[in-house]
Amino acid sequence: MNDENDGFFYHPLENIEDTEVFETAIDRRVFNRKLSNDRPYTYWTLELYDQENGIRGGGGLGVLAADTRRIAELTGVPFVLITPFYPSETRQVWEDGQIVDQHIPVNYENYGFLKIDDVFIKCSGDLCRLEVIEKKFKNTRIIAITEPNFGELYSGLSGSDHRLYQEVSLGFGGYQALKLLGLKPATMQLNEVATFFAALVRLDELVSNGMDFYEAMVYTRKHTLYTNHTLVQAAEAEFSIEQFERFVFPNLKSRPVKKWLKDKFVDGKIKLSAVTIEIAELRSGVSKLHARVANYYDIAGQKVKFRAITNGIDMKKWVLPQTMKFYHDEGILDEYDLPTPNFAERLRALNSDAILGFKEIGRGVLNSELSTRPDQNGEILSFENNEIIFDFKRRFVDYKRPQLPFRDIARLRNILEPLNAHYILAGRVHTGDSRMEKVLYDILEKVSSDDYLKTHVHYIADYDEKLAFALSVGSNVAINVPIVGLEACGTSWEKDVANLNLLISTHDGGVADGSTSSYLNVHGLSEDEEALELYLRMEEAGAAWQNKFDLETLLVGQLTDFLPIVSGSRMLKDYLDLLLPE
Ligand SMILES: *Cc1c(COP(=O)(O)O)cnc(C)c1O
Repeated sequence: MNDENDGFFYHPLENIEDTEVFETAIDRRVFNRKLSNDRPYTYWTLELYDQENGIRGGGGLGVLAADTRRIAELTGVPFVLITPFYPSETRQVWEDGQIVDQHIPVNYENYGFLKIDDVFIKCSGDLCRLEVIEKKFKNTRIIAITEPNFGELYSGLSGSDHRLYQEVSLGFGGYQALKLLGLKPATMQLNEVATFFAALVRLDELVSNGMDFYEAMVYTRKHTLYTNHTLVQAAEAEFSIEQFERFVFPNLKSRPVKKWLKDKFVDGKIKLSAVTIEIAELRSGVSKLHARVANYYDIAGQKVKFRAITNGIDMKKWVLPQTMKFYHDEGILDEYDLPTPNFAERLRALNSDAILGFKEIGRGVLNSELSTRPDQNGEILSFENNEIIFDFKRRFVDYKRPQLPFRDIARLRNILEPLNAHYILAGRVHTGDSRMEKVLYDILEKVSSDDYLKTHVHYIADYDEKLAFALSVGSNVAINVPIVGLEACGTSWEKDVANLNLLISTHDGGVADGSTSSYLNVHGLSEDEEALELYLRMEEAGAAWQNKFDLETLLVGQLTDFLPIVSGSRMLKDYLDLLLPE
Protein backbone atom coordinates (compact mmCIF):
# COMPACT_ATOMS: atom_id res chain seq x y z
CA MET A 1 0.00 0.00 0.00
CA ASN A 2 3.03 2.14 -0.26
CA ASP A 3 2.01 3.11 -3.73
CA GLU A 4 -1.30 4.80 -3.79
CA ASN A 5 -0.72 6.24 -7.17
CA ASP A 6 -2.19 3.91 -9.72
CA GLY A 7 -4.90 6.01 -11.23
CA PHE A 8 -4.47 8.47 -8.43
CA PHE A 9 -3.26 11.45 -10.37
CA TYR A 10 -5.56 11.69 -13.31
CA HIS A 11 -3.89 14.65 -14.94
CA PRO A 12 -1.36 13.82 -17.61
CA LEU A 13 2.19 14.34 -16.47
CA GLU A 14 3.13 16.50 -19.41
CA ASN A 15 4.34 19.43 -17.33
CA ILE A 16 6.69 17.38 -15.34
CA GLU A 17 10.33 18.13 -15.69
CA ASP A 18 12.95 15.51 -15.83
CA THR A 19 13.14 13.96 -12.40
CA GLU A 20 16.67 14.58 -11.33
CA VAL A 21 17.65 12.88 -8.18
CA PHE A 22 19.38 15.34 -5.96
CA GLU A 23 22.76 14.44 -4.70
CA THR A 24 23.27 16.44 -1.60
CA ALA A 25 25.62 16.10 1.27
CA ILE A 26 26.98 13.01 2.84
CA ASP A 27 26.68 11.40 6.31
CA ARG A 28 24.92 13.60 8.87
CA ARG A 29 24.01 16.12 6.21
CA VAL A 30 21.93 13.99 3.90
CA PHE A 31 18.92 16.15 3.30
CA ASN A 32 17.01 14.48 0.52
CA ARG A 33 15.90 11.18 1.93
CA LYS A 34 13.16 9.54 -0.12
CA LEU A 35 12.43 12.75 -1.92
CA SER A 36 12.68 13.51 -5.60
CA ASN A 37 11.73 16.31 -7.91
CA ASP A 38 8.33 14.78 -8.65
CA ARG A 39 7.85 13.44 -5.15
CA PRO A 40 8.76 16.47 -3.06
CA TYR A 41 8.38 17.70 0.45
CA THR A 42 5.24 19.85 0.34
CA TYR A 43 4.73 22.77 2.67
CA TRP A 44 1.29 24.38 3.00
CA THR A 45 0.84 27.85 4.39
CA LEU A 46 -1.80 30.60 4.26
CA GLU A 47 0.90 33.09 5.05
CA LEU A 48 4.23 33.60 3.34
CA TYR A 49 6.50 36.55 4.05
CA ASP A 50 8.62 36.82 0.94
CA GLN A 51 8.68 40.38 -0.38
CA GLU A 52 11.24 39.56 -3.07
CA ASN A 53 8.58 37.34 -4.57
CA GLY A 54 5.71 39.76 -4.12
CA ILE A 55 4.16 38.16 -1.07
CA ARG A 56 4.04 40.12 2.13
CA GLY A 57 3.09 38.24 5.25
CA GLY A 58 2.03 39.35 8.67
CA GLY A 59 4.82 38.07 10.88
CA GLY A 60 6.92 35.17 12.04
CA LEU A 61 4.81 32.37 10.63
CA GLY A 62 5.24 33.71 7.11
CA VAL A 63 8.93 34.48 7.58
CA LEU A 64 9.42 30.89 8.70
CA ALA A 65 7.72 29.56 5.58
CA ALA A 66 9.86 31.66 3.25
CA ASP A 67 13.04 30.74 5.12
CA THR A 68 12.19 27.04 5.04
CA ARG A 69 11.90 27.11 1.26
CA ARG A 70 15.16 29.00 0.83
CA ILE A 71 16.98 26.55 3.09
CA ALA A 72 15.57 23.66 1.05
CA GLU A 73 17.00 25.38 -2.02
CA LEU A 74 20.40 25.75 -0.37
CA THR A 75 20.52 22.15 0.83
CA GLY A 76 19.11 20.54 -2.31
CA VAL A 77 15.84 19.31 -0.84
CA PRO A 78 13.08 18.82 -3.43
CA PHE A 79 10.49 21.14 -1.95
CA VAL A 80 7.21 22.72 -3.00
CA LEU A 81 5.56 25.50 -1.07
CA ILE A 82 1.85 26.01 -1.69
CA THR A 83 0.37 29.33 -0.66
CA PRO A 84 -2.12 31.99 -1.76
CA PHE A 85 -0.97 34.97 -3.79
CA TYR A 86 -2.92 37.89 -2.36
CA PRO A 87 -3.65 40.49 -5.03
CA SER A 88 -3.51 43.31 -2.47
CA GLU A 89 -1.35 44.12 0.54
CA THR A 90 -1.32 46.69 3.32
CA ARG A 91 1.43 49.18 4.00
CA GLN A 92 1.41 51.49 6.96
CA VAL A 93 2.47 55.10 6.83
CA TRP A 94 2.80 57.66 9.57
CA GLU A 95 0.67 60.68 8.74
CA ASP A 96 -0.27 63.57 11.03
CA GLY A 97 0.64 61.64 14.14
CA GLN A 98 -1.25 58.52 13.15
CA ILE A 99 -0.82 55.16 11.51
CA VAL A 100 -2.62 55.04 8.19
CA ASP A 101 -3.13 51.80 6.26
CA GLN A 102 -2.67 51.88 2.52
CA HIS A 103 -3.91 49.05 0.34
CA ILE A 104 -1.67 48.40 -2.61
CA PRO A 105 -2.50 46.10 -5.54
CA VAL A 106 0.13 43.46 -6.29
CA ASN A 107 0.53 41.79 -9.66
CA TYR A 108 2.15 38.36 -9.70
CA GLU A 109 3.55 38.88 -13.19
CA ASN A 110 5.84 41.56 -11.82
CA TYR A 111 7.42 38.98 -9.55
CA GLY A 112 8.26 36.29 -12.07
CA PHE A 113 5.30 33.99 -11.48
CA LEU A 114 3.97 32.17 -14.53
CA LYS A 115 0.40 31.12 -14.95
CA ILE A 116 -0.03 27.34 -15.21
CA ASP A 117 -3.78 26.95 -15.60
CA ASP A 118 -7.12 27.47 -13.91
CA VAL A 119 -8.67 25.08 -11.44
CA PHE A 120 -12.20 25.16 -10.05
CA ILE A 121 -13.74 24.61 -6.67
CA LYS A 122 -17.35 24.70 -5.59
CA CYS A 123 -18.22 27.57 -3.34
CA SER A 124 -21.67 28.58 -2.13
CA GLY A 125 -23.39 26.92 -5.07
CA ASP A 126 -21.10 28.45 -7.67
CA LEU A 127 -18.07 27.18 -9.47
CA CYS A 128 -15.19 29.42 -8.47
CA ARG A 129 -12.25 29.80 -10.79
CA LEU A 130 -8.78 29.90 -9.24
CA GLU A 131 -5.58 30.64 -11.05
CA VAL A 132 -2.57 28.42 -10.46
CA ILE A 133 0.71 30.26 -10.78
CA GLU A 134 4.22 29.07 -10.22
CA LYS A 135 7.76 30.24 -9.71
CA LYS A 136 10.74 27.88 -9.70
CA PHE A 137 13.96 28.14 -7.77
CA LYS A 138 16.32 25.25 -8.58
CA ASN A 139 15.01 22.20 -6.70
CA THR A 140 12.17 24.15 -5.09
CA ARG A 141 9.13 26.06 -6.24
CA ILE A 142 6.32 28.21 -5.01
CA ILE A 143 2.91 27.24 -6.30
CA ALA A 144 0.34 29.90 -5.58
CA ILE A 145 -3.42 30.02 -5.83
CA THR A 146 -4.98 33.33 -6.65
CA GLU A 147 -7.90 35.17 -8.22
CA PRO A 148 -8.70 38.87 -8.49
CA ASN A 149 -11.06 38.91 -5.50
CA PHE A 150 -8.94 36.78 -3.23
CA GLY A 151 -8.44 39.71 -0.88
CA GLU A 152 -5.61 40.32 1.53
CA LEU A 153 -3.91 38.13 4.05
CA TYR A 154 -6.18 37.76 7.09
CA SER A 155 -8.90 39.84 5.49
CA GLY A 156 -12.23 39.05 7.06
CA LEU A 157 -12.60 37.81 10.59
CA SER A 158 -11.26 34.40 11.44
CA GLY A 159 -14.29 32.18 11.27
CA SER A 160 -15.80 34.25 8.45
CA ASP A 161 -16.94 32.95 5.07
CA HIS A 162 -14.12 34.75 3.33
CA ARG A 163 -11.47 33.14 5.52
CA LEU A 164 -12.99 29.71 4.94
CA TYR A 165 -13.08 30.43 1.21
CA GLN A 166 -9.36 31.31 1.24
CA GLU A 167 -8.50 28.20 3.24
CA VAL A 168 -10.59 25.90 1.07
CA SER A 169 -9.13 27.48 -2.07
CA LEU A 170 -5.62 26.77 -0.86
CA GLY A 171 -6.37 23.17 0.11
CA PHE A 172 -8.59 22.05 -2.76
CA GLY A 173 -7.08 24.37 -5.37
CA GLY A 174 -3.52 23.67 -4.25
CA TYR A 175 -3.99 19.93 -4.36
CA GLN A 176 -5.36 20.12 -7.89
CA ALA A 177 -2.40 22.30 -8.81
CA LEU A 178 0.02 19.61 -7.70
CA LYS A 179 -1.76 17.12 -9.88
CA LEU A 180 -1.68 19.47 -12.85
CA LEU A 181 2.07 19.61 -12.43
CA GLY A 182 2.44 15.88 -11.92
CA LEU A 183 3.71 16.24 -8.38
CA LYS A 184 3.00 13.70 -5.67
CA PRO A 185 3.60 14.88 -2.14
CA ALA A 186 6.03 12.65 -0.26
CA THR A 187 5.12 14.51 2.90
CA MET A 188 2.76 17.32 3.78
CA GLN A 189 3.71 19.90 6.35
CA LEU A 190 0.73 21.96 7.48
CA ASN A 191 1.86 25.35 8.73
CA GLU A 192 -1.01 25.88 11.16
CA VAL A 193 -4.54 24.51 11.02
CA ALA A 194 -5.77 26.87 8.29
CA THR A 195 -4.10 24.45 5.85
CA PHE A 196 -6.01 21.42 7.13
CA PHE A 197 -7.96 21.12 3.86
CA ALA A 198 -4.88 20.04 1.92
CA ALA A 199 -4.62 16.86 4.00
CA LEU A 200 -8.38 16.39 3.79
CA VAL A 201 -8.24 16.44 -0.02
CA ARG A 202 -5.51 13.84 0.02
CA LEU A 203 -7.63 11.58 2.19
CA ASP A 204 -10.62 12.15 -0.06
CA GLU A 205 -8.59 11.37 -3.15
CA LEU A 206 -7.31 8.09 -1.75
CA VAL A 207 -10.73 6.91 -0.66
CA SER A 208 -12.48 7.94 -3.83
CA ASN A 209 -9.84 6.01 -5.75
CA GLY A 210 -10.86 2.85 -3.98
CA MET A 211 -8.70 2.68 -0.91
CA ASP A 212 -10.33 1.55 2.28
CA PHE A 213 -11.16 4.56 4.48
CA TYR A 214 -9.10 3.39 7.46
CA GLU A 215 -6.10 2.49 5.33
CA ALA A 216 -6.32 5.86 3.64
CA MET A 217 -6.51 7.57 7.01
CA VAL A 218 -3.46 5.70 8.28
CA TYR A 219 -1.57 6.59 5.13
CA THR A 220 -2.52 10.26 5.24
CA ARG A 221 -1.74 10.54 8.94
CA LYS A 222 1.65 8.97 8.56
CA HIS A 223 2.73 11.50 5.95
CA THR A 224 1.30 14.64 7.48
CA LEU A 225 2.91 16.99 9.96
CA TYR A 226 0.92 19.65 11.74
CA THR A 227 3.09 22.52 12.93
CA ASN A 228 1.44 24.53 15.66
CA HIS A 229 2.32 28.14 16.45
CA THR A 230 -0.53 28.97 18.79
CA LEU A 231 -0.66 28.32 22.49
CA VAL A 232 -4.31 28.05 23.29
CA GLN A 233 -6.86 26.03 21.41
CA ALA A 234 -9.68 27.96 23.06
CA ALA A 235 -8.69 31.12 21.19
CA GLU A 236 -9.24 29.47 17.83
CA ALA A 237 -12.19 30.52 15.67
CA GLU A 238 -14.91 28.03 14.80
CA PHE A 239 -16.76 27.34 11.60
CA SER A 240 -20.38 26.24 11.43
CA ILE A 241 -21.74 23.20 9.68
CA GLU A 242 -23.73 25.55 7.50
CA GLN A 243 -20.48 27.14 6.28
CA PHE A 244 -19.05 23.68 5.56
CA GLU A 245 -22.22 22.78 3.62
CA ARG A 246 -21.44 25.67 1.31
CA PHE A 247 -17.65 25.54 1.02
CA VAL A 248 -16.34 22.13 2.03
CA PHE A 249 -18.71 19.19 1.59
CA PRO A 250 -19.54 19.97 -2.08
CA ASN A 251 -15.84 19.64 -2.88
CA LEU A 252 -15.49 16.19 -1.32
CA LYS A 253 -15.99 13.13 -3.51
CA SER A 254 -15.99 10.33 -0.99
CA ARG A 255 -18.91 9.61 1.25
CA PRO A 256 -16.96 8.05 4.13
CA VAL A 257 -14.76 11.16 4.28
CA LYS A 258 -17.80 13.44 4.38
CA LYS A 259 -19.25 11.35 7.16
CA TRP A 260 -15.99 11.34 9.09
CA LEU A 261 -15.85 15.12 8.87
CA LYS A 262 -19.53 15.62 9.74
CA ASP A 263 -19.06 13.52 12.87
CA LYS A 264 -16.46 15.99 14.12
CA PHE A 265 -18.93 18.81 14.59
CA VAL A 266 -19.91 19.53 18.15
CA ASP A 267 -23.13 21.51 18.51
CA GLY A 268 -22.92 22.41 14.84
CA LYS A 269 -19.42 23.91 15.19
CA ILE A 270 -15.94 22.76 14.32
CA LYS A 271 -12.44 23.90 15.24
CA LEU A 272 -9.91 23.06 12.58
CA SER A 273 -7.35 22.07 15.20
CA ALA A 274 -9.57 19.17 16.30
CA VAL A 275 -9.56 17.63 12.83
CA THR A 276 -5.96 18.58 12.05
CA ILE A 277 -4.83 16.68 15.13
CA GLU A 278 -6.74 13.65 13.80
CA ILE A 279 -5.39 13.78 10.29
CA ALA A 280 -1.74 14.38 11.23
CA GLU A 281 0.11 11.78 13.23
CA LEU A 282 3.12 14.06 13.52
CA ARG A 283 2.69 17.28 15.40
CA SER A 284 5.28 19.85 16.25
CA GLY A 285 5.62 23.05 18.20
CA VAL A 286 8.13 25.75 17.29
CA SER A 287 10.35 25.81 20.39
CA LYS A 288 11.00 23.50 23.33
CA LEU A 289 8.99 25.63 25.72
CA HIS A 290 6.15 26.10 23.28
CA ALA A 291 5.88 22.36 22.56
CA ARG A 292 5.65 21.79 26.29
CA VAL A 293 3.05 24.40 27.12
CA ALA A 294 0.80 24.36 24.02
CA ASN A 295 -2.52 23.37 25.48
CA TYR A 296 -4.40 21.19 22.98
CA TYR A 297 -6.75 18.28 23.37
CA ASP A 298 -7.81 15.72 20.81
CA ILE A 299 -11.38 14.67 20.24
CA ALA A 300 -11.10 11.93 22.86
CA GLY A 301 -10.09 14.58 25.40
CA GLN A 302 -6.45 13.50 25.57
CA LYS A 303 -3.80 16.18 25.84
CA VAL A 304 -1.86 16.42 22.58
CA LYS A 305 1.91 15.97 22.69
CA PHE A 306 3.93 18.16 20.38
CA ARG A 307 7.51 17.45 19.35
CA ALA A 308 9.73 20.48 19.59
CA ILE A 309 11.41 21.69 16.44
CA THR A 310 12.63 25.15 17.17
CA ASN A 311 12.41 27.64 14.34
CA GLY A 312 15.65 28.65 12.73
CA ILE A 313 16.35 31.32 10.14
CA ASP A 314 17.83 31.32 6.67
CA MET A 315 21.17 32.75 7.68
CA LYS A 316 22.12 33.62 4.11
CA LYS A 317 19.16 35.95 3.96
CA TRP A 318 19.31 37.45 7.43
CA VAL A 319 22.97 37.76 8.27
CA LEU A 320 25.30 40.46 6.94
CA PRO A 321 27.19 38.84 4.02
CA GLN A 322 30.56 39.85 5.48
CA THR A 323 29.70 38.19 8.79
CA MET A 324 28.58 35.06 6.94
CA LYS A 325 31.88 34.99 5.06
CA PHE A 326 33.66 35.14 8.40
CA TYR A 327 31.56 32.25 9.80
CA HIS A 328 32.43 30.18 6.74
CA ASP A 329 36.11 31.16 6.50
CA GLU A 330 36.67 30.43 10.17
CA GLY A 331 34.96 27.03 9.98
CA ILE A 332 32.13 28.09 12.26
CA LEU A 333 29.46 27.22 9.69
CA ASP A 334 29.76 24.61 6.95
CA GLU A 335 28.65 25.02 3.34
CA TYR A 336 25.05 24.25 4.38
CA ASP A 337 25.12 26.87 7.12
CA LEU A 338 25.14 24.21 9.81
CA PRO A 339 27.44 24.87 12.77
CA THR A 340 30.51 22.67 12.44
CA PRO A 341 31.26 20.06 15.14
CA ASN A 342 33.86 22.34 16.72
CA PHE A 343 32.17 25.68 16.02
CA ALA A 344 32.32 26.67 19.69
CA GLU A 345 36.11 26.57 19.71
CA ARG A 346 36.30 28.33 16.40
CA LEU A 347 34.18 31.17 17.69
CA ARG A 348 37.29 32.31 19.53
CA ALA A 349 38.31 33.93 16.27
CA LEU A 350 35.58 36.47 16.88
CA ASN A 351 37.37 39.40 18.45
CA SER A 352 36.19 42.92 19.05
CA ASP A 353 37.94 44.30 15.98
CA ALA A 354 36.02 41.89 13.80
CA ILE A 355 32.79 42.68 15.63
CA LEU A 356 33.21 46.43 15.29
CA GLY A 357 34.15 46.02 11.64
CA PHE A 358 30.91 44.15 10.87
CA LYS A 359 28.90 46.66 12.84
CA GLU A 360 30.40 49.50 10.83
CA ILE A 361 29.28 47.86 7.59
CA GLY A 362 25.88 47.11 9.13
CA ARG A 363 25.52 50.72 10.23
CA GLY A 364 25.90 51.78 6.60
CA VAL A 365 23.11 49.38 5.61
CA LEU A 366 20.87 50.76 8.33
CA ASN A 367 21.53 54.38 7.41
CA SER A 368 20.75 53.67 3.81
CA GLU A 369 17.47 51.93 4.69
CA LEU A 370 16.51 54.83 6.94
CA SER A 371 17.28 57.37 4.24
CA THR A 372 13.79 56.77 2.80
CA ARG A 373 11.96 56.15 6.07
CA PRO A 374 11.55 59.18 8.32
CA ASP A 375 10.78 58.79 12.01
CA GLN A 376 7.64 60.05 13.76
CA ASN A 377 8.92 63.63 13.62
CA GLY A 378 9.59 63.46 9.90
CA GLU A 379 13.36 63.34 10.52
CA ILE A 380 15.62 61.34 8.26
CA LEU A 381 18.05 59.60 10.57
CA SER A 382 21.67 58.78 10.03
CA PHE A 383 23.83 57.34 12.78
CA GLU A 384 27.56 57.53 13.42
CA ASN A 385 29.43 54.29 14.02
CA ASN A 386 30.07 55.11 17.65
CA GLU A 387 26.43 55.84 18.51
CA ILE A 388 24.81 52.98 20.38
CA ILE A 389 21.39 51.89 19.13
CA PHE A 390 18.89 49.91 21.14
CA ASP A 391 15.99 48.51 19.16
CA PHE A 392 12.61 46.94 19.62
CA LYS A 393 11.39 45.56 16.31
CA ARG A 394 8.46 43.23 16.11
CA ARG A 395 4.71 43.19 15.60
CA PHE A 396 2.95 45.41 18.10
CA VAL A 397 0.88 42.92 19.97
CA ASP A 398 0.00 42.91 23.59
CA TYR A 399 2.16 40.07 24.82
CA LYS A 400 5.35 41.38 23.20
CA ARG A 401 5.09 44.50 25.40
CA PRO A 402 6.59 47.33 23.32
CA GLN A 403 5.64 49.66 26.21
CA LEU A 404 7.74 47.92 28.88
CA PRO A 405 10.88 50.06 28.40
CA PHE A 406 8.73 53.20 28.72
CA ARG A 407 7.36 52.49 32.16
CA ASP A 408 9.83 54.88 33.75
CA ILE A 409 10.67 57.62 31.28
CA ALA A 410 13.16 59.36 33.58
CA ARG A 411 15.06 56.14 34.10
CA LEU A 412 15.14 55.43 30.39
CA ARG A 413 16.56 58.88 29.77
CA ASN A 414 19.19 58.35 32.45
CA ILE A 415 20.32 55.20 30.67
CA LEU A 416 20.37 56.57 27.14
CA GLU A 417 21.71 60.07 27.74
CA PRO A 418 25.14 59.26 29.25
CA LEU A 419 25.73 56.86 26.35
CA ASN A 420 24.37 59.35 23.84
CA ALA A 421 22.34 56.34 22.71
CA HIS A 422 19.25 56.07 20.52
CA TYR A 423 16.25 53.80 20.76
CA ILE A 424 14.45 52.64 17.62
CA LEU A 425 10.96 51.24 17.72
CA ALA A 426 9.65 49.44 14.68
CA GLY A 427 6.58 47.29 14.42
CA ARG A 428 3.29 46.97 12.70
CA VAL A 429 0.02 47.31 14.51
CA HIS A 430 -2.49 44.79 13.24
CA THR A 431 -5.13 46.60 11.16
CA GLY A 432 -8.02 47.54 13.39
CA ASP A 433 -6.19 46.90 16.68
CA SER A 434 -7.03 50.25 18.22
CA ARG A 435 -5.78 49.15 21.63
CA MET A 436 -2.25 48.65 20.39
CA GLU A 437 -2.45 51.81 18.30
CA LYS A 438 -3.16 53.64 21.52
CA VAL A 439 -0.22 51.93 23.23
CA LEU A 440 2.02 53.26 20.48
CA TYR A 441 0.55 56.78 20.63
CA ASP A 442 0.97 56.83 24.41
CA ILE A 443 4.61 55.81 24.12
CA LEU A 444 5.26 58.55 21.58
CA GLU A 445 3.46 61.12 23.66
CA LYS A 446 5.57 60.29 26.71
CA VAL A 447 8.66 60.48 24.54
CA SER A 448 7.73 63.86 23.11
CA SER A 449 7.39 65.30 26.59
CA ASP A 450 11.09 64.73 27.31
CA ASP A 451 13.59 66.96 25.57
CA TYR A 452 16.28 64.26 25.30
CA LEU A 453 14.06 61.33 24.41
CA LYS A 454 12.15 63.24 21.78
CA THR A 455 15.25 63.38 19.61
CA HIS A 456 16.61 59.98 20.63
CA VAL A 457 13.61 57.66 20.52
CA HIS A 458 12.44 56.99 16.98
CA TYR A 459 9.43 55.18 15.65
CA ILE A 460 9.78 53.90 12.10
CA ALA A 461 6.54 52.87 10.40
CA ASP A 462 5.78 49.92 8.16
CA TYR A 463 8.09 47.35 9.73
CA ASP A 464 8.97 44.81 7.06
CA GLU A 465 11.75 42.45 6.06
CA LYS A 466 14.08 45.18 4.87
CA LEU A 467 13.80 47.14 8.07
CA ALA A 468 14.16 43.94 10.10
CA PHE A 469 17.39 43.16 8.27
CA ALA A 470 18.75 46.70 8.47
CA LEU A 471 18.15 46.89 12.21
CA SER A 472 19.59 43.43 12.84
CA VAL A 473 22.84 44.32 11.11
CA GLY A 474 23.03 47.97 12.11
CA SER A 475 21.96 48.30 15.72
CA ASN A 476 23.73 47.14 18.89
CA VAL A 477 21.24 45.92 21.43
CA ALA A 478 17.95 44.11 20.78
CA ILE A 479 15.10 44.15 23.25
CA ASN A 480 12.73 41.17 23.30
CA VAL A 481 10.46 41.08 26.32
CA PRO A 482 7.38 38.93 25.70
CA ILE A 483 5.29 37.90 28.70
CA VAL A 484 6.86 34.59 29.64
CA GLY A 485 4.88 31.69 28.25
CA LEU A 486 3.27 33.57 25.39
CA GLU A 487 5.89 33.67 22.65
CA ALA A 488 5.80 30.55 20.50
CA CYS A 489 9.37 30.99 19.26
CA GLY A 490 10.16 34.38 17.81
CA THR A 491 12.83 34.65 15.18
CA SER A 492 13.81 38.31 15.19
CA TRP A 493 16.04 37.67 18.22
CA GLU A 494 17.81 35.00 16.14
CA LYS A 495 18.58 37.59 13.47
CA ASP A 496 20.09 39.72 16.25
CA VAL A 497 22.21 36.98 17.77
CA ALA A 498 23.58 35.97 14.37
CA ASN A 499 24.36 39.62 13.56
CA LEU A 500 26.27 40.24 16.79
CA ASN A 501 23.79 42.32 18.73
CA LEU A 502 23.50 41.94 22.45
CA LEU A 503 20.19 40.33 23.28
CA ILE A 504 18.11 41.49 26.23
CA SER A 505 15.23 39.08 26.64
CA THR A 506 12.78 37.37 28.89
CA HIS A 507 13.24 33.60 29.00
CA ASP A 508 10.56 32.70 26.52
CA GLY A 509 9.96 31.15 23.11
CA GLY A 510 13.07 29.87 21.37
CA VAL A 511 15.26 31.95 23.70
CA ALA A 512 14.30 29.50 26.44
CA ASP A 513 15.93 26.69 24.43
CA GLY A 514 19.18 28.19 25.74
CA SER A 515 20.23 28.94 29.28
CA THR A 516 19.48 32.20 31.09
CA SER A 517 23.18 32.92 31.34
CA SER A 518 23.77 32.95 27.61
CA TYR A 519 22.18 36.36 27.01
CA LEU A 520 21.09 39.37 29.09
CA ASN A 521 18.15 37.86 30.89
CA VAL A 522 15.15 39.78 32.21
CA HIS A 523 13.34 38.00 34.96
CA GLY A 524 10.81 39.23 37.49
CA LEU A 525 7.72 38.27 39.39
CA SER A 526 5.82 41.35 38.33
CA GLU A 527 5.94 43.72 35.41
CA ASP A 528 7.53 46.33 37.70
CA GLU A 529 10.31 43.95 38.61
CA GLU A 530 10.80 43.02 34.98
CA ALA A 531 11.04 46.67 33.98
CA LEU A 532 13.69 47.27 36.66
CA GLU A 533 15.69 44.31 35.39
CA LEU A 534 15.30 45.50 31.85
CA TYR A 535 16.86 48.85 32.78
CA LEU A 536 19.77 47.12 34.50
CA ARG A 537 20.36 44.94 31.44
CA MET A 538 20.26 48.03 29.21
CA GLU A 539 22.95 49.63 31.36
CA GLU A 540 25.07 46.49 31.16
CA ALA A 541 24.61 46.27 27.41
CA GLY A 542 25.55 49.92 26.96
CA ALA A 543 28.67 49.44 29.08
CA ALA A 544 29.63 46.30 27.18
CA TRP A 545 29.69 48.17 23.89
CA GLN A 546 32.37 50.35 25.45
CA ASN A 547 34.49 47.50 26.75
CA LYS A 548 36.12 45.20 24.20
CA PHE A 549 36.60 42.27 26.54
CA ASP A 550 33.02 42.26 27.81
CA LEU A 551 31.65 42.65 24.32
CA GLU A 552 33.60 39.65 23.01
CA THR A 553 32.70 37.52 26.00
CA LEU A 554 28.99 38.27 25.81
CA LEU A 555 28.67 37.87 22.04
CA VAL A 556 30.71 34.67 21.91
CA GLY A 557 28.59 33.33 24.79
CA GLN A 558 25.36 34.10 22.91
CA LEU A 559 26.58 32.44 19.75
CA THR A 560 27.93 29.39 21.54
CA ASP A 561 24.53 28.68 23.01
CA PHE A 562 22.36 29.80 20.16
CA LEU A 563 24.08 29.21 16.83
CA PRO A 564 22.76 25.65 16.45
CA ILE A 565 19.27 26.91 17.23
CA VAL A 566 19.50 29.86 14.85
CA SER A 567 20.66 27.69 11.94
CA GLY A 568 17.67 27.10 9.69
CA SER A 569 19.46 24.14 8.10
CA ARG A 570 19.45 22.50 11.52
CA MET A 571 15.69 23.10 11.62
CA LEU A 572 15.07 21.58 8.19
CA LYS A 573 17.21 18.59 9.13
CA ASP A 574 15.12 18.14 12.27
CA TYR A 575 11.94 18.21 10.18
CA LEU A 576 13.35 15.62 7.79
CA ASP A 577 14.38 13.42 10.70
CA LEU A 578 10.81 13.57 11.96
CA LEU A 579 9.08 13.16 8.61
CA LEU A 580 11.40 10.76 6.84
CA PRO A 581 13.53 8.98 9.39
CA GLU A 582 16.47 7.15 7.86
C1 LIG B 1 11.72 38.19 11.54
C2 LIG B 1 10.48 38.92 11.30
C3 LIG B 1 9.35 38.66 12.06
C4 LIG B 1 9.33 37.63 13.16
O1 LIG B 1 9.40 38.31 14.34
P1 LIG B 1 9.16 37.69 15.77
O2 LIG B 1 8.37 38.70 16.46
O3 LIG B 1 10.47 37.48 16.37
O4 LIG B 1 8.43 36.40 15.56
C5 LIG B 1 8.20 39.40 11.81
N1 LIG B 1 8.17 40.34 10.86
C6 LIG B 1 9.24 40.62 10.09
C7 LIG B 1 9.15 41.67 9.06
C8 LIG B 1 10.43 39.91 10.28
O5 LIG B 1 11.48 40.18 9.52
